[in-house]
Amino acid sequence: MSRVLKIVTGDVPELRQKAQIVKNVKDPIIQELILDMSETMRKKKGIGLAAPQVGKLLQIIVASDGGDNELVVINPKIERVSKDVVVLEEGCLSLPGIYEKVTRSEKVTVTGLAQNGEPIKIKADGWLARVLQHEIDHLEGVLFIDKVKK
Ligand code: ZN
Repeated sequence: MSRVLKIVTGDVPELRQKAQIVKNVKDPIIQELILDMSETMRKKKGIGLAAPQVGKLLQIIVASDGGDNELVVINPKIERVSKDVVVLEEGCLSLPGIYEKVTRSEKVTVTGLAQNGEPIKIKADGWLARVLQHEIDHLEGVLFIDKVKK
């Protein structure tokens, strides 16, 4: 049974650190964490979640594609971004009540590992491209409020 994990909230040191590479994706502890992260994202009605947000400094993200499908990316890396950008309001489960307009690339190509450890390459646009950029920022200790134009 997967569990709903506690989400780290606020602009706190835990959310300002770099996450570590996952070396053994098949480790049962990692697999359980992924399932718990998916459950937590669903229950909290989020559209994306990064492991540092549940107190684990590991390079794991989960994202909703806006429909019923979820995407898990381990050790994600942004390979390409489009020059075209989109400005949209964003929020974050770790920063409840804060919504700000953030400029993001319209399209991104992300590589990494799937939940089963196989390499994956995702070409995303629209909302998913935004979610991927937001979640990968979390792995670098970056919060969306850093990207708001003052
Ligand atoms: Zn976030």
